[in-house]
Amino acid sequence: MYNSENSIRKEIYPLMIDGKEVASMSEKTFISYCPATGRELASVYEGDERDIDLAVAAARRAFFGPWAKMTPKERSRALMRFAEVLESKKEMFAQIEMLDVGKPIQHARASTAGLAGALEYYAGCLFTLAGESINVSDHTIVDFTLREPLGVCGLIVPWNYPVNLAVLKLAPALAAGNVVVIKPSEVTPLSTTELGLAALEAGLPAGVINIVHGTGAVAGSALSRHPDVAKVSFTGGTLTGRRVYVDAAATLKRVTLELGGKSPLVVFANADLDAAVAGAYNDLVRNTGQVCAACTRVFLERPIHDEFVEKLMAKLRNARIGLPGDESTEMGPLVNQVQQDKVRDYAKIGQNEGATLLWAQDISGRDELNNGHFVAPAVFLNAKNDMRIAREEIFGPVQTIMSFEGEEQAVELANDSPYGLAAAIYTRDAALAMRMARSIQAGTVCINTSAKASVDAPFGGYKESGIGKERGVAALLEDTQVKNVRFSLK
Ligand code: NAD
Repeated sequence: MYNSENSIRKEIYPLMIDGKEVASMSEKTFISYCPATGRELASVYEGDERDIDLAVAAARRAFFGPWAKMTPKERSRALMRFAEVLESKKEMFAQIEMLDVGKPIQHARASTAGLAGALEYYAGCLFTLAGESINVSDHTIVDFTLREPLGVCGLIVPWNYPVNLAVLKLAPALAAGNVVVIKPSEVTPLSTTELGLAALEAGLPAGVINIVHGTGAVAGSALSRHPDVAKVSFTGGTLTGRRVYVDAAATLKRVTLELGGKSPLVVFANADLDAAVAGAYNDLVRNTGQVCAACTRVFLERPIHDEFVEKLMAKLRNARIGLPGDESTEMGPLVNQVQQDKVRDYAKIGQNEGATLLWAQDISGRDELNNGHFVAPAVFLNAKNDMRIAREEIFGPVQTIMSFEGEEQAVELANDSPYGLAAAIYTRDAALAMRMARSIQAGTVCINTSAKASVDAPFGGYKESGIGKERGVAALLEDTQVKNVRFSLK
């Protein structure tokens, strides 16, 4: 059994290039901290352009070498072996995410339990990849398509679900025959190193997965600009996504951009109110609100406004905020000082805009939380959809609650946002739910549930929430390109 002490390495966390654990060229290091206690967890080698060059070169060799020679069946088996290793290490990954991200251990376990499943899904899914035969208007030509991998894919990952998001990116990429260079978040680098080592343990050829730690501005940007990288798959903030898009444009790379959100949760008066309250509560508390698809704008049909707020606040007052290692903790700290400052800043911004802020708990007397980046969950009442607290992503346990009258206004308010990642609708009227599903401008619309994503269904934003899809068959297809072959019968 792993525990938090033996899941963290004593030596410096390496980069992984060409199947080897290596120091960065500069030999510079940075430190990863525990958000719950402020203590130093580990040192990590910091990569730069030179390390990205080496990683991309190693990936190219694997792409044209051992990985390309594998049949789909062999590739599928390799992914299944990788899945088995991840399954055997899921508790270690949970312990690392608990320490490095500050996730409550129960939540970390629930997340890492899905690692193997993502690989298994794409290990099966890859057999569906196929070209097509086309009836062109020329009887002397046989025309067909081949669906081919892209080459080296650069995967840039954020800190909120480090190992899960890395796996969700690499699984379809490898299944389609690509190779990858991963740039984990410098805020939470530890689990991805273990992921690379698990891949080697599973027998994946050297160079198929390479990992370069470092900052976004240096290592991330070098990856997005690298001429031998065919695609960048980026998850992170919308501002950063714009930079990545510009960097990738110089060499016309493919991009998948999974960006920020300000998703609406719309509750009609005929809804199961307890289910809707539970949905809002989950989105506030899960991962301390640091979830891209979390519904942070709550629209309540006027007659149920007060009852909903009362029920939500009652639940939030009892939310178990605590140290992540405690089995009963539901909500841990924010990931770092930057996020804590951001939540506090928006608390002031919202009040200055005229909204009423309600913190659900006073945690100031909780000595055990003093060294961590803890905040209580909070809601804004008397807010308007044009306030900054309703338009900008806060990325913490804060919801802006507003009311509406009737279906038309619900649609108008829900769609009045630069983002379009997800939405949740609560109603017992099925036809109303379906009309809402059609009208909402978002990549995912959930009806009577707050569970926004699964590995087998496409996920990706409309509008400024992103470009392209992850998960599902859609992600596999996005990691391929189509070649047309024209064969003369003359
Ligand atoms: P971020 O944009 O700061 O960083 C994400 C990654 O990009 C990190 O690895 C970072 O080092 C790297 N990076 C930073 N600058 C870069 C640059 N110039 N070039 C290349 N890479 C660069 O995001 P974050 O703070 O780590 O994560 C939080 C954000 O991620 C939120 O906005 C959240 O909504 C978003 N997110 C979106 C999804 C989704 O699926 N849509 C999922 C999770 C998180």
